[in-house]
Amino acid sequence: MNLPIYLDYNSTTPVDPRVLAAMLPYFTQKFGNAASRSHAFGWEGEEAVEIAREQVARFIGAEPKEIVFTSGATEGDNLALKGVFESYAAKGNHIITVVTEHKAVLDSCHHIQRLGGEVTFLPVDAEGLIDLAGLEAAIRPSTVLVAVMYANNEIGVIQPIRAISAIARRHGILFFTDATQAVGKVPVDVNADGIDLLTMSAHKIYGPKGIGALYVRRRNPRVRLAAQMDGGGHERGMRSGTLNVPAIVGLGKASELCQMEMAAEAPKVAALRDRLETGLLAIEGARVNGSREHRLPQVTNISFPGVDGEALLAGLGKDVALSSGSACTSASMEPSYVLKALGVADDLAHSSLRLGLGRFTTAEEVDYAIGRIRETVEKLRERALQ
Ligand SMILES: *Cc1c(COP(=O)(O)O)cnc(C)c1O
Repeated sequence: MNLPIYLDYNSTTPVDPRVLAAMLPYFTQKFGNAASRSHAFGWEGEEAVEIAREQVARFIGAEPKEIVFTSGATEGDNLALKGVFESYAAKGNHIITVVTEHKAVLDSCHHIQRLGGEVTFLPVDAEGLIDLAGLEAAIRPSTVLVAVMYANNEIGVIQPIRAISAIARRHGILFFTDATQAVGKVPVDVNADGIDLLTMSAHKIYGPKGIGALYVRRRNPRVRLAAQMDGGGHERGMRSGTLNVPAIVGLGKASELCQMEMAAEAPKVAALRDRLETGLLAIEGARVNGSREHRLPQVTNISFPGVDGEALLAGLGKDVALSSGSACTSASMEPSYVLKALGVADDLAHSSLRLGLGRFTTAEEVDYAIGRIRETVEKLRERALQ
């Protein structure tokens, strides 16, 4: 067993060696610009991109032409929200989203507010779920988009996507979901789930960083999207810029592997997560944040009352790599806004850990992590009593 143990898979994942192997030729030998139409180097690059586009499309039940490559989910979120807001200005200027969304969604919405748009931020209940009646009540004649993430990055809670998309569709409103955490862990199908726009990112599914995809529905309805990056008209004009061929090949391969292996991998990782959770809940006072029923298979978020999360992380030191409930807002030591939205008190939010498991996690690592976390929690509590 190698230290430190990695339990921060929601933050990023290692590149699967099979993904890296698929990418390597596209750096040095097959280095052509996929937009070069006049020679074999370009054709080779373009062919690789189109194969990847098919792999990504198949993974989420889409058509290849509905996939736009981006630099990741942050860009995809920006493009979906700002692109729809701009394109549908004649119809209305109101967007509905949720307080527990990723910052890429929340801050894009704040930007839209500064441009004169109106945004409703729906609350969540103690489980982290939105209220469907509340969603329906928030709809106005001017609503153009409902944006609800598929699964949350901090607590793993999965929203009732099909019920949400059905409400949006009934009112003739587009539905966008940030599915960055969901794809590869639970089945996601844009048609069965009623999704009009979807973002995903390679580095959360064992692909490289700096590449992602935005799904844009082309039929029933055809979604119009104003580009946010102007230039050579790549990606059917929706996202200009020379395509990052090796990274796109990596995203395609990562998607294919997830599609093939998810059915076997998800229950295996869920069993390890449950083992970890059971071990940690044996620590006095420990409690899980968010729904345990509607949740991704590979993550748990646990509070340890009376212990400071940052001290806990520091105490775990070089042995276990994970995130705390206050680290997510980077420089600031604010407790997580996601946990606050669930009604978790500040001190409990400060005492929380997010543990994300993944493809390469072992039972041995889980058992070691339980021991180290228990030891550290107990030591910090003793110190607090002195
Ligand atoms: C990681 C993540 C993002 C950002 O993705 P990048 O590709 O790193 O920009 C957006 N949304 C969610 C839910 C995420 O987990």
